[in-house]
Amino acid sequence: MQQKINKSYSFYSNDLNKVKYDLLYDKALKIRDYKNEISEFVCKNPIKFFNLSKFDWINVFRRRMDNCNNQDISNAISDTYVAYENKITTFNRKIKSKVQSGFKKTLYKKNGKHYKKDDIKSFEPIFKETKLTKVVSYLAKFYDDKFIEFLKENKNDNTLRIDALYYVEKYGDRLIDLILLKQKNTIDKITKHPIKFVSLTFTSCTEQKENIINQNKNKQSIFNCVISLSGQNREKGKLYIPIKYSRKHHGNLKDYYKTFNSKGQRVISYKISFYKKRIRIILTRLGIDETVKNKSNYYGVDVNVKHNLFSDKYGNFIDYDRDIFNDYISFLKRMDEKKKRKDSNILSKKDNIKFNNFKVIIKDMLKRKCNALVKQAISLNKNHIVMEDLQHMAKSFARNNEFEGFKYSRLIRLLNLADLKNIVKSIANKHNIQVTFVQPHYTSKACDQCGRIHDDNRKTQENFECVSCGNKANADTHSAKMIEDRLHLDVLRKSLLVLKDGLYSPNKLKKEAIKSILVECYDING
Ligand SMILES: [Zn+2]
Repeated sequence: MQQKINKSYSFYSNDLNKVKYDLLYDKALKIRDYKNEISEFVCKNPIKFFNLSKFDWINVFRRRMDNCNNQDISNAISDTYVAYENKITTFNRKIKSKVQSGFKKTLYKKNGKHYKKDDIKSFEPIFKETKLTKVVSYLAKFYDDKFIEFLKENKNDNTLRIDALYYVEKYGDRLIDLILLKQKNTIDKITKHPIKFVSLTFTSCTEQKENIINQNKNKQSIFNCVISLSGQNREKGKLYIPIKYSRKHHGNLKDYYKTFNSKGQRVISYKISFYKKRIRIILTRLGIDETVKNKSNYYGVDVNVKHNLFSDKYGNFIDYDRDIFNDYISFLKRMDEKKKRKDSNILSKKDNIKFNNFKVIIKDMLKRKCNALVKQAISLNKNHIVMEDLQHMAKSFARNNEFEGFKYSRLIRLLNLADLKNIVKSIANKHNIQVTFVQPHYTSKACDQCGRIHDDNRKTQENFECVSCGNKANADTHSAKMIEDRLHLDVLRKSLLVLKDGLYSPNKLKKEAIKSILVECYDING
């Protein structure tokens, strides 16, 4: 099945009149300067901004600027945030405190020229987390002069906040000094050189009736097409940019046309950059998806709702951003209570805005997590991600299973986890990694040692223990392996999946048929 996806194409204009050129140039300059202004500001207040989401940055830095619309400003802020993501990740990693609990000793296994068998090869310190190191990490991440007050007012029944207050009370300034030193040591290196934006590039968006590209009416011109952009700071707001269009390279003109939205407008986003005296305009068009195929270094990934969003069979985990996740859950709970009180399903306007904001934040988080997953696959030399078909994931949970009072099926819907399928696929394919979705049946309940499938193999969310052979494993790691096996093992790949044009899709089988294939496979192999 061929899928259509957006692809970017560049158009150049090297002969634009000065008024039009200056208009765009001036805008690019202003946006670049603003990004640098934000960058400097963030580095002066890193504790605050490294703990905020992209969405928060947009709220804080949103402002009016001549010649720029709201979307231009949001894009500029969002680009700046994205540029800072690596620094934010480094901050979150380095701000953590751990204590040394001992050494791991490695010995030589054979005699060598300069050593004998059982001589010490290396000493590696082993670190562990304690209640106190957790508090130190937490305070170092968030502490400013208002933070203790915030803790006192918002401790509720949050254990970490209560522990933090306890230690601050106990050790007083000595602890605070330690925290400040830790912050300084971590922050100084990261913020010493604020990111400097040099290139004159901006992304923008226009709503217009006219198509983005049209044939040039002036047939004598060497530029056979014209790009039209509305909403510019000039008479009638329109800007026409003549460009050379090559059907062979750029494809069918109609593929760049967007359909009308409910307001009778076409919403078009574009990117502009400058190089020497040339303007480059980047547009997206619907193109044939060049889906990655024929890859065979399989990487099984288990998706979880309650803990660790992604797990693999090696014990690597990628978790949700817990702060965002928990905020969302408590927001949803409050909304449920409100609805119950008012005996109505309709949210107030304000709550509805909040709800929509959360949806954006959650989707943004899922995208970041998928990016991390793809990076992890690459670092493990894998080129084929295997996951359960998430659309059916809700069904794999027992009907009464709940998390903080939410039915799993509802939670999956509220987190929009069905979306993950497309997000993972599009990010993975960009990095030349294939993705296959397999049937979710029995991935958590089948034993890979003896083939026994039983509900009691998974008595808790966390642990797998086979009722027949006693095989024990971490439940997530075990599921990830079982998912990977569906492609890795010839017999499963051939019977559970259909291969067409280098891509796999689940074979339409009854549950019972899947069950007997699995039992037979692991009974022989186990
Ligand atoms: Zn077993």
